[in-house]
Order: sequence, then C-alpha cells, then structure tokens
Amino acid sequence: MPVTLDEVRELDRQDPLAPFKACFALPAGTIYLDGNSLGAQPSAAVEAVNGLMTQWRDSLIQGWNQGWFDAPERLGDRLAPLLGAAPGEVLVTDTITHNIFKLLGYITEGQGRARSVILSEGGNFPTDGYIAQGFCRFGGFEHRVLPEGEALEAYLDDRVAAVVLSHVHYRTGRLRDMAAITRQVHAASAEVIWDLAHSTGALPVDLAACGVRYAVGCTYKYLNGGPGAPAFLYVRRDAQDRAWQPLSGWLGHAAPFAFEADYAPAPGISRFHTGTHSPLAYAALEASLALWQEVDLAQLRRKSQQLIELFRESLGDCLDEHGISDITPDEAQRGSQVGLVAPDNGYAIVQALIERGVIGDYREPGLLRFGFAPLYLSHEDVWQAARHLREVLAEGEYLAPRFQQRGAVT
Ligand SMILES: *Cc1c(COP(=O)(O)O)cnc(C)c1O
Repeated sequence: MPVTLDEVRELDRQDPLAPFKACFALPAGTIYLDGNSLGAQPSAAVEAVNGLMTQWRDSLIQGWNQGWFDAPERLGDRLAPLLGAAPGEVLVTDTITHNIFKLLGYITEGQGRARSVILSEGGNFPTDGYIAQGFCRFGGFEHRVLPEGEALEAYLDDRVAAVVLSHVHYRTGRLRDMAAITRQVHAASAEVIWDLAHSTGALPVDLAACGVRYAVGCTYKYLNGGPGAPAFLYVRRDAQDRAWQPLSGWLGHAAPFAFEADYAPAPGISRFHTGTHSPLAYAALEASLALWQEVDLAQLRRKSQQLIELFRESLGDCLDEHGISDITPDEAQRGSQVGLVAPDNGYAIVQALIERGVIGDYREPGLLRFGFAPLYLSHEDVWQAARHLREVLAEGEYLAPRFQQRGAVT
C-alpha cells in the first residue's frame, strides 16, 4: 500500500473543503461514490422542503407571488457563477431532454433548410441522441451521428445546423476542450449545444471564456438538488431574443396572465419556460445552491483530482490481477470520475461493493463507475472504498449468486 491510513487522515485535516461534509446527511457506514448519478442530501434541503410545505398550507395560491413563480430565473442567477455565466443567462427548468429539444428548435427557427442536419455523438448518454432523433423526425431535419472517438472536423459540413456534445462523457469521464471545439463549430457557421451534466459542480466551467452560446445541464448529479431536480439551460445574452423555442407554453409567453389567444415569446431567458414548475423541487435545489455559493471551484477541482489519484494508487495491482482495465483519462482530460471495465463480472462487483456500503454504479457494457464529489467525500472514504474493492476482488466475494440479480435501475 503506497498510502497509509495515518497519511490520508492528515490529508483530511489539511483539506479546506472538509467542513462541507457536515452539511450533508449520508447514511452511517456509507461511502457514496455515485454523486455523479444522484447527489447526496444537503441537510438544509430538508428544512427548505418542510418550509415550502408550510408555505403551501398557509399561503395557498399566494405562494406563487412569494418566490415560487420566479424561482427558475432566481436559481438560474445563483447557478450562473458556477458556469461562468452572467445573471439573466441561465434558466432552471424542465429536464436536459426537454431543454435540448427547445434549443434545437430555437437555433434552427427561421434558418431555412439549407442547413438541415443535427449532429449528435455516438456513445453519448442516450437521451441526447434520442431527442435529436425525435426533433429531426417531427421537424423535417436529418439526424447524423458523430461516431465515438472520431474528430468532429469530417462531419462539420455546410449542412450542419447544430451539434450536441457532452463536455464530460458520462461513461469514460473524458473532458472535451470546450473553447477549441466551440470555435471550430462557430467557424463552420453551426451552433453547438454543450451538455454539462457531468461537469456542473464537478469542475470549474467558464462558458463566457469558451465563447459558448448554448448549454444545458442537470442539478441532481454533482449539484445535489435532489431526485428529479429541475435541469437548466444557458443562452448567452447576445443570442437571446432571436426566435421562438418550440415548446411554446404559457409560462414562456411575454404576458402569461393576459391569457391572449396567440403566443408571443417573453424577452430574454424567460421564453425558455414551458409549463408550471414544481416549487417543492426548487426549494430543495435552492438550499443546495446556497452551499455552492461558498465553494471555491479551484479547490474543488484540486480535491477531485487528488481523490481520484488516491483511489487509483490505493488499488495497487489488484485490477491487473483480475483482468480489469482502468479507462480513466489523464488528469487534464477528465472530469471527476473513475471508470473501470470488468468485462465479465462488472455488475456483480458493484453489487458486492454496495453490500459493503460502498455505492458506485454500473453501466453496460462492463463499466464500473465511481464518481468523486469533493464536498462530502473525505480522503479516508476514498482510501476505504479502494480497500473494499481490493477485498471484494481478492476473496471472489462478487461470485455469490445474490449479486447477479438485477433491479430496474442500475
Ligand atoms: C444525466 C444525463 C442526462 C439526463 O437527462 P434528463 O433529461 O435530465 O433526464 C442527459 N444527458 C447526459 C449527458 C447525462 O449525463
């Protein structure tokens, strides 16, 4: 073992982010390495949701004028500093899937059909491709796929209207060069929609510095907004007010309570609303975003990378011995996760770890995924998680039949 328990405890004592761990409620005995799928619960979210329930009881419909109605804009402004965005450029609403659809329609509205191709990447989180397919099918566009691992250049011809790309890849953790790719796409007179699902709250993002015009992301992963927490979309100020978005619902209307017969888009980011949002969900997210205002993102990035290195070092040679490969990219090219490929027993290994209280997740085919959320993971947690994985492998624990049974959600 290259690192001792005393040494990792010393790292925790010196960790400037260590105090945040006390702001989260995690079950005793759990080491949570799945914050990249669903973040842990900030204790303040419980009070916030309870408070919202009381407000609903006491204020009834007046609650909408007491902070519920403008929560999507207000929380967007709170989120903006984590993205390198300005106030008025982010709206917290709907899901990533809806938001990609809205942006595809917004970008292509009134463009004519000289540019009729929507490009999405093969091997990405499937919803991004599925919704591009649905958009193309119903809007008369052509869907093309950029094969995984191939350079964009050969696919960016003069028929491409928009490209949907992940900043950090959900399986491999690979981090793309956002500034360079954005420049390349804009130079081809196309637009790129960046999906920030695995970068928001995982590393510093600077949309303004990268010249980005359009982005989407979710808040239930690294941002700890809670199960089903609303997603967000970003439209740079100078790209707003250009067109309609296709889910032209009443809350994106310029005068939603005038109940006019015809749609007229609201100015600015508010036109990207669709229908009624859930104040309960926003209450939990708002509590989490209050914590994020205190986080130094450079410190977050440093710790995330330290935890990843500590995990990999602490595994020693056990991966090679069991035919498992580590597909995690080098530091400059990765997000905040480790990916291990165990072709035969990946699912069972993850189940055996979960029984020991170490929660990671499994993605087909063969991928063990471990997310590193620096606000509630200590160096000791990570060291212990690596010890558990070594033991699960060494003792063949994962071969037990109970680890082969699958639930609906993996
Ligand atoms: C998690 C994730 C999503 C989730 O989409 P929803 O519509 O919010 O459920 C989309 N894209 C990527 C890349 C993801 O990782």
